[in-house]
Amino acid sequence: MSAPTKGDLSPSEKELFQVISAGNVQEASRLLGCKDVRVNCLDEYGMTPLMHAAYKGKADMCKLLLQHGADVNCNQHEHGYTALMFAGLSGKTEITWMMLDAGAETDVTNSVGRTATQMAAFVGQHDCVTVINNYFSRARLDYYTKLQGLEKEPKLPAKLAGPLHKIIMSTNLNPVKVVMLVKENPLLAEVEALDKCRRVMELICEKCIKQQDMNEVLAMKMHYISCVLGKCASFLKDREDKLDGLIKSLLKGRDSDGFPVFQEKFIRECIRKFPYCDATLLQQLVRSIAPVDIGNDPTALSVLTQAITGQVGFMDTEFCTTCGEKGAEKRCSICKMVIYCGQECQKMHWFTHKKVCKKLQEQREKQEAETAKLRMKQSKEESKAAQEAADIMQELSVETKSEETPSDAAAETSDSTSVRATDN
Ligand SMILES: [Zn+2]
Ligand SMILES: [Zn+2]
Repeated sequence: MSAPTKGDLSPSEKELFQVISAGNVQEASRLLGCKDVRVNCLDEYGMTPLMHAAYKGKADMCKLLLQHGADVNCNQHEHGYTALMFAGLSGKTEITWMMLDAGAETDVTNSVGRTATQMAAFVGQHDCVTVINNYFSRARLDYYTKLQGLEKEPKLPAKLAGPLHKIIMSTNLNPVKVVMLVKENPLLAEVEALDKCRRVMELICEKCIKQQDMNEVLAMKMHYISCVLGKCASFLKDREDKLDGLIKSLLKGRDSDGFPVFQEKFIRECIRKFPYCDATLLQQLVRSIAPVDIGNDPTALSVLTQAITGQVGFMDTEFCTTCGEKGAEKRCSICKMVIYCGQECQKMHWFTHKKVCKKLQEQREKQEAETAKLRMKQSKEESKAAQEAADIMQELSVETKSEETPSDAAAETSDSTSVRATDN
C-alpha cells in the first residue's frame, strides 16, 4: 500500500480508529491483521492510531500497536504533536514509559515550541514529566562508546555500556543498591572501569545542564551515580574488604537507634558536590536537607529520591531496609520491625541490625500491648455508649407516645440520662 497521507483512510482503517476510541483491543488486533490496514495511517489531523491510543490513555492498545510496528516518532500531526506528547498529556506513566522504550525522541518540539516534558508539565502531569526526565536511552549512552574527533579510544568501553545503563535506568537510588549493581558485574567492579564510567556520567551531567532544554533532574541523577561509582573505586583501591566493606559502611547504624549515619552523610555530600551551583534543583534539595538533624526525617535519600523519581512516601514499609527495593515482604522474625527483599539482604544487614533488633522487639511489644489496652477501653466505651443509646431510644418511644415533638423529647431524654448517670 502507498505511504499514508492525511485523511486517506480505507474503511477498515476508519474502523480501527473507532475501535481504538472504544478500547476494543481484540477487534483492533483483528483489524491490524487485515491487508488494507496500515498501522501508521493518518486521520485528517495527521494523527496515527498510536497517537490516539496514547492520548486516550489505553496502554494495552498502545502495546498492540507497537507490536505491529507503529512508528513512535511519526511527526505528521498538524500541530507537531508526537505520540510521546500525547502520552504525557494523558497522564499515564506506563504509556509514557512505553513510548520512550520504543525509542521516542524527547527533544522534538511541537508547533508552539514545546517538548513533551513541557507539554506534560503545562497540564500538570508531573508523574509523566518525571518519567521523561529520568529516561536515558541506550543510544545516548552508546554515543560514548564510539570514537569522537581525535580520540584513540572511546570514552566508554562498549562492554561497560550495558551494566552502566542498567544503573542509570534504576529508579532505586539507594547507594547500597547501586553498589550491589556494580558488584554483580565483574567488568564494572574494577577501578579503571569505574573511573571511565564516572567521567562519562559527569560529561552527561554537564550536557544535561548546558543543553537547550535543560534537564536538572537527569543531571543530578548522573552526578549522584558518578559519586557512588567514585566511592566504589576508592574502596576497591584502598580497602581490603572492597565493595563489601563499602556496603557495610553504608549500612552501619549508630548504636542509639541504628540510623545509618555514614550513608546519610555520604548522600548529603554527593548533593553538595553538584558542580552547578545555580541549579534550582540543587538549591531546593539543600534547603530541604540542611535544617534536618542527622537521624531525623526526611533523610537525604528520601529527599533526593522524591526530587529525581517523584516517589513520595519513600520510607514506607514496603521497601527493603538494606537495598531500598520496592515490594520487600520478608520480615525480621525477631523484631518484625524491618523488612527485606530476601535472605541476602537480611544477611547483609544483620551485623548492624542485631544491635537494635532486641530494642525494636521490645518497642513493638510495648506498642502492641498499648494498642490492645486502648482497643479494650474503646470497646468498653462503645458498649457503654450503645447501652445509653438504647436507653434513649426506649425513653423516646415512651415519651413520643405522650405526643411531644421528637426534638423536645430528645432534649429531655438526654437530660434524664445525665440525671440517671449521676444517680448511679
Ligand atoms: Zn534488598
Ligand atoms: Zn530484627
